[in-house]
Amino acid sequence: MTTIVVFAEQSGGQARRASLECVGAARSTGAEVTAVVSGKQAQASAAGLGAAGAAKVICLDGTGPHSPDATAADLAKIVAELGAKAFLAAATTLGKDLAPRVAAHLDSTLFSDVIGLSAEGGEFTVVRPWLAGKAIATLRSTAGVLCATTRPNVFAPAASAGQASVEQRAASSGGKVLVTGIEAKSAGKLDVKEASVVVSGGRGMKGPENFGLIENLAAAFGNAATGASRAVVDAGWRPHAEQVGQTGKTVAPKLYIAVGISGAIQHLAGMRTSKVIVAINKDKDAPIFRVADYGIVGDAFEVLPALTEAVRAARARH
Ligand SMILES: Cc1cc2nc3c(=O)[nH]c(=O)nc-3n(C[C@H](O)[C@H](O)[C@H](O)COP(=O)(O)OP(=O)(O)OC[C@H]3O[C@@H](n4cnc5c(N)ncnc54)[C@H](O)[C@@H]3O)c2cc1C
Repeated sequence: MTTIVVFAEQSGGQARRASLECVGAARSTGAEVTAVVSGKQAQASAAGLGAAGAAKVICLDGTGPHSPDATAADLAKIVAELGAKAFLAAATTLGKDLAPRVAAHLDSTLFSDVIGLSAEGGEFTVVRPWLAGKAIATLRSTAGVLCATTRPNVFAPAASAGQASVEQRAASSGGKVLVTGIEAKSAGKLDVKEASVVVSGGRGMKGPENFGLIENLAAAFGNAATGASRAVVDAGWRPHAEQVGQTGKTVAPKLYIAVGISGAIQHLAGMRTSKVIVAINKDKDAPIFRVADYGIVGDAFEVLPALTEAVRAARARH
């Protein structure tokens, strides 16, 4: 049976959803999955990874600071040792940092941000957006080992009642880059990449003081994150962590609500694969309406309070 190695991220012993989706993508090809986890409490995440379809979990134990070089070397070694035909990581900040290094170690190439993955006759085919999402390319891999990152919120985590076998290994130390500290800028807030509902505001919100209306709508959903266009991030109205688009984050939630956002190609690049897109804009010709499933032509300052009330009332009924 073909083996695929997946780099799985965890936080506090819980595998991240994007990594469970990555395991799901690997399982959907019919391959057996070995997940590799690192960091404190790596072992605690094994149960979740097993339930998501990983047959084996390798925990890299290390005491020193994280080094993407060293971790990539460890991952490449595991891929070679298992004779795996593919290496996958979620297209997160960490995954995007590690995957090219692993590909270099394996003398392979990298298929980044894939939204489709299949295997036939030992060959992998991937689907990924091109030209900021304007075209969708289908690419066949002829590499000995396929190396790819999977776009979060696209693949479904596999539903399996399985239990993974767990192996502990010493992580390599050293490396040319050592991560000595990470400062969380918006602790406690749901990340736009993880949320199933994203409410984003643009320049049409007129000023930072009005983003309470965006936050209220997000809070009404209960599980929503707030996002922003680059224009408002550049203006200092919102933190960069919320920026959606070509130079921000790529999101594909179940529901994306764009408020006062014109729909520039660079913004669309980060959200056009969302399942349902709702646009609120007072200009009926705004480009965002071309990708929207539902559009409200109106003033955000009138629409947002009414919509927030309607969402609250609907949730109270269910
Ligand atoms: C290399 C490069 C990379 C970029 N990367 C990104 C990126 O990652 N993400 C990103 O978003 N942009 C990015 N941009 C910028 C992008 O081109 C646009 O400038 C930006 O997305 C515009 O932001 P906006 O829609 O908030 O503002 P605007 O384009 O000014 O649109 C504001 C909208 O609000 C509407 N509006 C005004 N008042 C109201 C109201 N009261 N109620 C309802 N609607 C109202 C207007 O009709 C208008 O459509 C990038 C640009 C470049 C060149």
